[in-house]
Amino acid sequence: MSYAAAFRCFAGCPGTHPLTQPVYRCPSCGGLLEVAHDLDALRDRSPAAWMRLFDQRYRRTAWPYGSGVWGKREWVAPAVPDDAIVSMDEGGSSLFWAERYGKSIGLDDLWIKLCGNSHTGSFKDLGMTVLVSVVRQAVREGLSLRAVACASTGDTSAALAAYGAAAGLPVVVLLPRGKVSTAQLVQPIASGALVLALDTDFDGCMSIVQRLAADGVVYLANSMNALRIEGQKTVAFEMVQQFDWAVPDWVVVPGGNLGNAYALFAGFRMLKDLGVTTRLPRLCVAQAEHANPLYLAWSAGKREVAPVKARETLASAIQIGNPVSAPRAIQALEAMDGVVEQASEEELCDAAARADRTGLYTCPHTAVALVGLEKIVAKGLVGPKDRVVVVSTASGLKFTEFKVRYHEKSLAGVDARHANPPVMVPADYDHVLAALDAHAARAS
Ligand SMILES: *Cc1c(COP(=O)(O)O)cnc(C)c1O
Ligand SMILES: [Zn+2]
Repeated sequence: MSYAAAFRCFAGCPGTHPLTQPVYRCPSCGGLLEVAHDLDALRDRSPAAWMRLFDQRYRRTAWPYGSGVWGKREWVAPAVPDDAIVSMDEGGSSLFWAERYGKSIGLDDLWIKLCGNSHTGSFKDLGMTVLVSVVRQAVREGLSLRAVACASTGDTSAALAAYGAAAGLPVVVLLPRGKVSTAQLVQPIASGALVLALDTDFDGCMSIVQRLAADGVVYLANSMNALRIEGQKTVAFEMVQQFDWAVPDWVVVPGGNLGNAYALFAGFRMLKDLGVTTRLPRLCVAQAEHANPLYLAWSAGKREVAPVKARETLASAIQIGNPVSAPRAIQALEAMDGVVEQASEEELCDAAARADRTGLYTCPHTAVALVGLEKIVAKGLVGPKDRVVVVSTASGLKFTEFKVRYHEKSLAGVDARHANPPVMVPADYDHVLAALDAHAARAS
């Protein structure tokens, strides 16, 4: 097997760097890096042979191939040896037809790719298994490091802490104090990471961790590190595989730091480059109105994203004003005939509540994507028969406070029209029956 991948400059400066080297920016221009694969080597198998191989491995237990990421290892990080891989069977997440919600907004063929059905409850596992495995390989080859570290809006730190713990590597996470959910905060605590709660926002945490990494104190695990993208791009592989290797018409994803939007593009592009598919879907990136630098740039026709000061949003994982992967996201939007939409707090709460009433139990970021979808349906960009996939980024179970506060009607500035508080009833038969009758009368 002579498959190979290396870092190279995203803007095209010459030269490559081994994936095991702690390098996060192009040494020539200071810009972002990407992972380049030797596509010619990968053409030694026909598209049909790749599809067969991936189907044979999918969700089985022959380690490490049952993982949605490592089942595609030749296309992800081909040089990581078996015994360096740190995997907890991530990926292979559900893709289901959201029939009732879809029909409620005029779509017959709407699907949810529920990336929250993964080890730590968000899509961040997909990138983290790759990054932590490469770090373990690098440490064995002599790299010395004090810790692997990230700034996080919650889910990145949960994933890094879990995969770091599984590998026996020290982990440090920098979190904006009071801006992540209880579930997200307790995850890295339970995994034994050093949790630093800083009195700032995500962007403030990010600038400190970048400096620690530049000084060589820590290894940087944020999605600025192109290794994360390699794992995350398997969401595109996986959804195409789940559709028996057919490409949907649209994919809709919430965007914060914008690594995931680009990862989807990187995945769809690789499928096309290697002849498994023949086209790219269209892309809709949805941002919270309170943290919308990409929306502002794209709707003004600009191809450079100016940072904004992110305001507080219930979609806390995308409360990011200065997205590191903005240039990557612009490339994805250009290649995929993309659009950018935004969601207000009221809109995202309302969409989450309506989606939940069709059984979705959606996280607030997925709700932002649903608002984006509803807007492009209203604009006529998406037709009733189009196949649409919403990338649901985390489990709704991580966002209990959001749901509780909505249904208690205690979210400031939000008219919780679909609130469904419990009815207090004395413990006797007649009162329960009366409550059922009263409910039926209200519903009719
Ligand atoms: C990280 C995250 C996002 C945003 O992904 P980016 O790659 O930063 O754009 C969206 N939703 C959830 C739940 C996340 O954890
Ligand atoms: Zn460069």
